[in-house]
Amino acid sequence: MKKHIINNLHTIQKRIQTACHKSNRNPEEVRLLLATKTVSPDRIQIAIDEGFSLIGENKVQELKQKASTISVAKPEIHFIGHLQTNKIKEVLKWAHCIESVDRISLAQKLHNRLALDNKTLDIFVQVNTSGEKSKFGVSPENAIPLLKEISQFETLNIKGLMTIGLLSTKSEEVRKCFKTLKTIQEQVNASAIPNIKIEELSMGMSGDLEIAIEEGATIIRVGTAIFGEREYPDTYYWNEQKTII
Ligand SMILES: *Cc1c(COP(=O)(O)O)cnc(C)c1O
Repeated sequence: MKKHIINNLHTIQKRIQTACHKSNRNPEEVRLLLATKTVSPDRIQIAIDEGFSLIGENKVQELKQKASTISVAKPEIHFIGHLQTNKIKEVLKWAHCIESVDRISLAQKLHNRLALDNKTLDIFVQVNTSGEKSKFGVSPENAIPLLKEISQFETLNIKGLMTIGLLSTKSEEVRKCFKTLKTIQEQVNASAIPNIKIEELSMGMSGDLEIAIEEGATIIRVGTAIFGEREYPDTYYWNEQKTII
């Protein structure tokens, strides 16, 4: 088990390097986030011990269960799943960044809680670039208006944008999603909205990380290619309206 995870991590590093080389980017510009949903703390620890300390969890309950074990190693924890407002207090205990802010009501409630506690938080805005109904995220058309609204909350530092690309074998369709995210970043940064400078693009997963890196990803989120297949289908994490089994 340990050997597998370590080998897989090295394979991903090579994939990152190759993709960076191809697109004339410095591999240091691309961080690997371990997407650790369903992965047990002992397996996460193996990756942390190898020096990979950026972790993403999708569910607050699961994060809470694992956090006290994995937090000993002081990883940087990002929340990357759909966040319900009634879980805000709990998620703020553990997450250093929330990558899945996709609506003003959520931003408002995060702000209220942070203001009470006299804290600030790094966030990303999640954009639904594939247009699939099953995906969370603000639509590309509404992304800039949402970013402007969120920028008024002084407790929230808008660091980046996040997207899940179309799950497809048609790489040009997947690429379009990543290009859309990059375009929003460029438009926002060119329009000089006060308090916003988008530095990060979190995009690309096990199957499409090369395309994402070519299109400007600064964080890729990888689960399966490191830890193996998961027991639950991703719809369980990506769309809570769908029940499985
Ligand atoms: C699970 C997940 C990933 C990683 O997906 P893999 O295909 O296993 O690499 C990335 N981002 C989000 C939001 C996820 O839920």
